[in-house]
Amino acid sequence: MLTCRELFEFLHDYLARDLSLAQRASFELHLTVCKHCREYLATYKKTIDLTCAACEPDDDVPEDVPEDLVQAILNARRSK
Ligand SMILES: [Zn+2]
Repeated sequence: MLTCRELFEFLHDYLARDLSLAQRASFELHLTVCKHCREYLATYKKTIDLTCAACEPDDDVPEDVPEDLVQAILNARRSK
């Protein structure tokens, strides 16, 4: 299980899809149990989106990342 601090250190790589499967799983597991980090990630992503409005249009970021997270969080909540 990651600590919040480790999650922050992985954040950039996570959004860049640069994590291994195991790292990604740990990251998402932490997000399912840590409301603080979910909110932080949402804010962080919003900031990225805003700053990336001026990015190259062909910088194609897949949109399934947040959806994955939402589903993981919802599933984790349902199973408790
Ligand atoms: Zn956390």
